[in-house]
Formats: sequence, structure tokens, C-alpha cells
Amino acid sequence: MAIFTPNEFDDHESVLFFHDKKSNLKAIIAVHDTTLGPALGGTRMWEYASEEDAIDDVLRLSRGMTYKSSLAGLNLGGGKSVIIGNAREHKTEELFAAFGRAVHQLNGSYIAAEDVGTTVEDLEIARQETPHIAGIGEGNVGNPSPATAWGVFNGLKAAAHFRYKKDTLHGLKVAVQGLGNVGYGLCEHLAKAGADLVVTDIHSPSVEKAVQKLGAKAVYSDDIFHQDVDIFAPCALGAVLNDQTIPRLKAKVVAGAANNQLAEARHATDLMNRGILYAPDYAINAGGIIVISHEGPNYDKKKAMKDIAGIYDTSIKIFTRAEQENIPTADVADRIAIERIEKVKVENSQLAMAG
Ligand code: NAD
Repeated sequence: MAIFTPNEFDDHESVLFFHDKKSNLKAIIAVHDTTLGPALGGTRMWEYASEEDAIDDVLRLSRGMTYKSSLAGLNLGGGKSVIIGNAREHKTEELFAAFGRAVHQLNGSYIAAEDVGTTVEDLEIARQETPHIAGIGEGNVGNPSPATAWGVFNGLKAAAHFRYKKDTLHGLKVAVQGLGNVGYGLCEHLAKAGADLVVTDIHSPSVEKAVQKLGAKAVYSDDIFHQDVDIFAPCALGAVLNDQTIPRLKAKVVAGAANNQLAEARHATDLMNRGILYAPDYAINAGGIIVISHEGPNYDKKKAMKDIAGIYDTSIKIFTRAEQENIPTADVADRIAIERIEKVKVENSQLAMAG
């Protein structure tokens, strides 16, 4: 099995495989880049179709965390971990204790957090074995989803301003796919700002709640793509911007919370060629990592929310540069993230030489 050659391998600093026979832990921790600081990223528990899929996922996600933290101006690197297994059936205390010991072996160069398939309770078990877990313990900020929703709302507002030259969302139609922790929170901000909502979710109680409480119009799952709306906000799955869905979009702005929305990098160009402004996912869904970076005994919620609102300015910067250079917004976000890392690498090597 190739490790260093798949497309997803991007000069990752380390990729560690952990196996604990007693608990049957099979985990992979990928540290993509620690130039800016320790690699912080969630722990995903998922029943992957193959071990290759798990490796691809952890490599892709850890690289994404490097870019997300860099673009958000945080002194954090990018890392991620996956535990191979069914989150409903295979969880035990021994498993998360063994995972905590695995994290501890990295000596703080990787910091784990909650992600798809893992909960605060799981990570509390791991925390008994290592201090290198974020989002729990003293001074923790709890569930980061409201912070993520606030950041997405600000990125979406920036996109609406840039594309439609409007300072208000009042009267704009927004189609939201996925009414989970982030999607529903985003809908609340949008409704408060006077936007008209069209929503979908495979979980019908969430849809009913949005209809009743926020006056949203509900549509069937697959119909969300071709709604006659101004903005499409994907807040459920990845890879929703693909060869099948992009031609169906009527919205001229895509701005949502879901990670890895583009099925392939070339889809960023497809969106641009169709005159659709794409707010890069990791640029506008960074609210969660920003709030975690504020964690500690002196946590100041007001300051954290102000920093997250800065996603508006970051988004405008990305859109402006993309327009000036006539390149996709996703490429601009990557470039800004990489430029910051390269600059710090040069500074670090100059410091080392001076020392
Ligand atoms: P969640 O699991 O709470 O919500 C996802 C929702 O999508 C669920 O209600 C689910 O029923 C719905 N869904 C799934 N498949 C669907 C489909 N085909 N059509 C319509 N709805 C569907 O997750 P979340 O925490 O709200 O995160 C949403 C997205 O944002 C994910 O892609 C996640 O990776 C990303 N994200 C979340 C955070 C965070 O702080 N929670 C941070 C960054 C990125």
C-alpha cells in the first residue's frame, strides 16, 4: 500500500498508525504542518470502506486544518486523527484510553478535539491519559458549532455584499442544505437578518422546526440544488459541488459550512466560469477553530466572537484578489494560507541562523 505517493500526501510531517490489541484500537494520526504551531484537529470515528479510504481521509483533513488555521491567522498547525470503527457499535472506554495514550506519544505536537463520530464524553476518557485534547476541561468553550455558524454567517454576508452589492441580507433568498448543529444556527442568523429561507434535511423534525420557528420553506433533499435562490449554503456533506450539481445551481453565490464542498479542485474553476462566487469552505467555517484557540481560564467570549466576525474581511480579501487575478477563490485562499506559512518558515530559518 502506497503512503508517500497518493495525491492526498502533501509532504505531511508525520503519519502515525496506532494499534492496541486489547481494545482493538486502529487509529491514524496525521500531522501535516507545524510551522505555525501545534497541529490541532478533530478525531473522526468512521467505519471506512477500506484502510486506503481512512488514510486518504486523514491526509486530506489534516492538510485542510493547516490551511484553515493559517488563513484564520492562528498560531496553530494542521493535523487530524481517525479511529477506524463504527461509532455506534465499537466504542469502549478502553478504546478511547488507548487513543489518549497514542495522542500522548506525540508530545503535544498534535492536539485532538471532537469531530464526526466522537463526543465530549469519549474525549474525556482520552484526556485522562493526555493533556493534549482541546474543547474539554478547565476553561473549555464547549460545542464549537454556534461559533462556526456565526463565522459562516459573516462569510456569507461578505459574499452577498461582493456579488450583489448589498449591505443587508434582507429579502435575499438562501437555500440551506443540512439543518444540523451549524446549519440550523446559520438559519437563525439568516432569519434574524431578514433573509428568506428554503431548507432541506434528511431528518424531518429539523425541517419542521425551521418551517415553524423560522418561516422557512421546505423542499425535498435533491431539489435544494435548483432552487431559484440568491445563495446556496451547503451545511451537510462534502463533495456536493460536482459535475451533476453545478449545472443545476441557480444561485450566484455558494457559501456554507460543509467541509470539502468541491468534489475536485477543478470544480472551483467550473463555478467561476458560470459566474458563481464560491466562498471557500475552510475560509468561512473557521469559527470553531478560532473559538477553540481562545480557550483557557481567561476566555473572553466577546473577543472570540469579534475575531470570528473577521471572517467577513478575510472573505472580501479573497474575493477581491480572485477578481483581480482572474483565478478561482479557492485557489486564492490556498495561496494566502501557504504564503503565511512560507513567510514564517523563512523567519524561523533566519532566526535559527542568527542564533
Ligand atoms: P451535523 O451532523 O450536526 O449536521 C449535518 C446535518 O446534515 C444533519 O442534520 C443531517 O441530517 C443533514 N444531512 C445529511 N445528509 C443530508 C442530505 N443528503 N441532505 C440534506 N441534509 C443532510 O453536522 P454539523 O456539525 O452541523 O456540521 C455540518 C457541516 O459543517 C459538516 O460538513 C462539518 O464537517 C462542517 N463543519 C462543522 C463544524 C462545527 O463546528 N460543527 C466546523 C467546521 C465545519
